[in-house]
Amino acid sequence: MNPVVAIIGRANVGKSTLFNRLAGSRIAIVEDLPGTTRDRIAADIPVYDKEITLVDTGGMDPFPDSPMAEKTNLQVAAAIADADIIVFLVDIRAGVVSTDWEIAGKLRKSSKPIILAANKADNLKLESHLSDFYQLGLGTPVAISAHHDRGTGDILDRIAELLPEQEPEERPGDIPGLALLGRPNVGKSMLLNAMVGEERSIVDATAGTTRDAIDTIYNYEGQDILLIDTAGIRRRGRVGMGLEFYSLIRSLRAINRCDIALLVTDASEFITAQDIHIAGYIKEAYKGMVLVINKWDLITEFTREEYIEHVKQHLKFAAHVPVVFTSALHNKDVDRIMPQVMRIWEERHKQVPNSVIDKLVQDALESHAPPRKGNRRLDIIRAYQDGINPPSFSFLVNDPRLAHFSYQRYLENRIRQTFGFSGTSVRLFFKKAPRRRPPKSGERVQS
Ligand code: GDP
Ligand code: GDP
Repeated sequence: MNPVVAIIGRANVGKSTLFNRLAGSRIAIVEDLPGTTRDRIAADIPVYDKEITLVDTGGMDPFPDSPMAEKTNLQVAAAIADADIIVFLVDIRAGVVSTDWEIAGKLRKSSKPIILAANKADNLKLESHLSDFYQLGLGTPVAISAHHDRGTGDILDRIAELLPEQEPEERPGDIPGLALLGRPNVGKSMLLNAMVGEERSIVDATAGTTRDAIDTIYNYEGQDILLIDTAGIRRRGRVGMGLEFYSLIRSLRAINRCDIALLVTDASEFITAQDIHIAGYIKEAYKGMVLVINKWDLITEFTREEYIEHVKQHLKFAAHVPVVFTSALHNKDVDRIMPQVMRIWEERHKQVPNSVIDKLVQDALESHAPPRKGNRRLDIIRAYQDGINPPSFSFLVNDPRLAHFSYQRYLENRIRQTFGFSGTSVRLFFKKAPRRRPPKSGERVQS
């Protein structure tokens, strides 16, 4: 679990500019709230040898009619409750304004570590006003310019100093880790009950943290299964407005820890942007996935085939993902989920002999040569599987930069056609071959 670092502050101080600066091009999860002009977003970003989940709690306005003070209160309350570290952003051009005082008061009362950052310090002259902010009583402020990328490294340094030692994720044995994901109200806790019943053993109450993640082990036909963050599934209504968003961050963490994710949707609501986003994240994290279409009892106008057809158009990148239709309410077909999970678990542990994969790749090269880039072309010197769970393949090539995305996808498809791996992401690495072996006589030479 990454520590959560939240950027807070009043409107227009530059929160989203700072977020974008620090997150760069990393995938961000976005809160999908209707009726808001801006979304709240989070991204996992590296801080030296560690990783944090950076959150911009900013631009969203869930209660457009409520007075400013109330909004600020809600935002700060959510950040204090759910963040491990808070970056409090102020505007060095504006100086200390009343809203800053209000926020500072709340932050001082919390026990969370605070980094006070004065933004828009675009030049030395502006930077000289930094000492104004000592009066907020939040320690030494840092001057930054998110826009001009000044001082943002100092923010990372401050964050790094405050980060706890990250302990390796503890997991009981090598058993399948399963995460149940999906928007509130789709029926996750009902599914959980139907799957697990009353015989549960809670294994990890993550003592000593502010969090309340609780994992559950249950036994499926002799195989222990780790259900990840079951508390997050059952719990509702924390700070109110932060609920959807923080449940999303929670999902992110559950995805990172799991092997296989069950993405649960409500059949009557179809696939939402949020679902597509989560599915994308599951893929990016190289996890297995089962799509569970729950509340199927509510659907009369489509056949399963029609529904799947429709779904796959929205989740094109998840063509190999199995779909299970359930009705948790009537305990119907819930027992079809676990066989898929176990099958994917096996797929993720499949090991293909190196000679076989190498041959497959050489055949793939012959039948569809990589496109040229200028006068150069990708050459794959050797290929082998170098990992399971997720299945990972390494390609030793002349120049990794020539491995175009579309060609990577082609290779992945060839691998899938031959070996399956259905329901799980596979990982391809392109590495520069140490040294090219001299071509044998008569051999095709690509450059
Ligand atoms: P937020 O409402 O706190 O998320 O603020 P935004 O990130 O949307 O920024 C508000 C405005 O301040 C935008 O016009 C930004 O271009 C501007 N801004 C952000 N960072 C800086 C900075 O470092 N220097 C200056 N001069 N303007 C900035
Ligand atoms: P969660 O927020 O995703 O954990 O959802 P819950 O398990 O709390 O279920 C939310 C609501 O959906 C409850 O009122 C359930 O009775 C209802 N529900 C759950 N599964 C089904 C289902 O398969 N069919 C129907 N019709 N309703 C369901």
